Amino acid sequence: MKLKNKINLYTSVLFIGLLIFMNITIYLLFKNLMVASEISATEQEFDNITAGVISSLGTVATDNLLRAYVPIDGKIQLVASDGKNLAMSVSPSEEKLSKQETAFYDKGVTKEITLDENHYYFYSLPVIWTDGSIANLQVTKSIETAYDQSETLRFILFAVTFVATIPIIVSSQLLGKLIMDPITALTKTMKEITKSGQFKRIPMNQQTKDELEQMGKSFNHMIDLLETIFTKQEQFVSNASHELRTPLTVIESYASLLKRRGIDKPEIFHEAVDAIHAEAVRMREMTEQLLLLAKPNEQWNLDFRSLSLTLITKATTKSFEQAYGREIALNVTEEVVVISDEQKLKQLLYIILENAVKYSEEIITVTIGKQNKEGFIRVSDKGIGIPEEDLPKIFDRFYRVDQARSRKYGGTGLGLSLAKEIANAIHATIEVESSLGVGTNVTIRLPLQ
Ligand code: ADP
Repeated sequence: MKLKNKINLYTSVLFIGLLIFMNITIYLLFKNLMVASEISATEQEFDNITAGVISSLGTVATDNLLRAYVPIDGKIQLVASDGKNLAMSVSPSEEKLSKQETAFYDKGVTKEITLDENHYYFYSLPVIWTDGSIANLQVTKSIETAYDQSETLRFILFAVTFVATIPIIVSSQLLGKLIMDPITALTKTMKEITKSGQFKRIPMNQQTKDELEQMGKSFNHMIDLLETIFTKQEQFVSNASHELRTPLTVIESYASLLKRRGIDKPEIFHEAVDAIHAEAVRMREMTEQLLLLAKPNEQWNLDFRSLSLTLITKATTKSFEQAYGREIALNVTEEVVVISDEQKLKQLLYIILENAVKYSEEIITVTIGKQNKEGFIRVSDKGIGIPEEDLPKIFDRFYRVDQARSRKYGGTGLGLSLAKEIANAIHATIEVESSLGVGTNVTIRLPLQ
């Protein structure tokens, strides 16, 4: 059975069952209550009748006495000890009671009796008859009103149960739809994904803010992530196969040259080894950067904490000075504490510093400060600069300002695109100002603590 039908069936059966149980309980409780109160009123009347009859017995003609005390919906009777009727008076509405069999009781008796499907309350009390013998004073009174009322109640409750069944069935169907629609949409989308091989999302039209919306959102988020991973890996494969072809061709041609003439001509040997080494280094750098770009930002395991920008920049520039033998002036006027991931921030700084080292020869200045509620690091070089028209493109993958100078300075064209991804992941921004032949300023802005 389908889950939707199961929900319909179970909720309908449960609610209707509950309704029937409640109504039966109400009916029985009220019926007992009404009959009990009718009996109690009848008993009160019996007491009055008994007191009246006993006090006047023998003083008034028995028939007249009984007629005076007969209940308006019942019978009053005197029965001899042998069970014979001594005197009887029946109200006009209860003529059938005259057919009731008479019996003598030794003790006082009260009981409910049924005659022709009508309910009565019967009462018998031993009394002393005018001749000194023991007789029974018996009174029977209809208690049908209580049964009539409970019958009306039964009809009302039955009607209520029937009428309430319709909204119960409708609401259980709505409930089933409410639960099942998102699941059906999820299954449909999954089937479409399997069939078409495309990354599809569940349409989220209504904002219900419940677990089902959460499920849909999580699914869509998972598909986003899978698509990013897939696209990045696809990009990696196509970029790697395209970009590694040139260095591999260079290495191959130099290796053939070495094979042919390398042993005889030392200058060819040196040139080939240098070229192969340079290409190998470039290939390693490119592969490392490509691998990093292929990883979605969600999997970078970022650890955001308060960091002293001053300390990090000092340590990074020092290691740079040693590694590249370049002079870097540090310009710090105040302590700046930012919220960031240390490893990624250092990696970002490395990319910017590497470019400054690569594309300039004079002293590099690094400035740290605060501006507009943000911390910043500015790397300024007095190098070759970037033409204005190239500025918007330098963050694109594999974009190099011009191939000629790239060949001279090395580089992969991936540095700044990686820098941009890192900056996005750590909520930083990068601004580049440059004048051709004058120099370049790269500013990284970070959220302050
Ligand atoms: P690359 O590996 O070629 O340096 P990047 O993505 O880091 O790749 O930089 C893209 C291009 O931007 C570089 O090819 C270079 O021409 C230019 N560029 C980046 N930084 C500087 C700088 N400090 N000075 C001059 N040109 C720069």
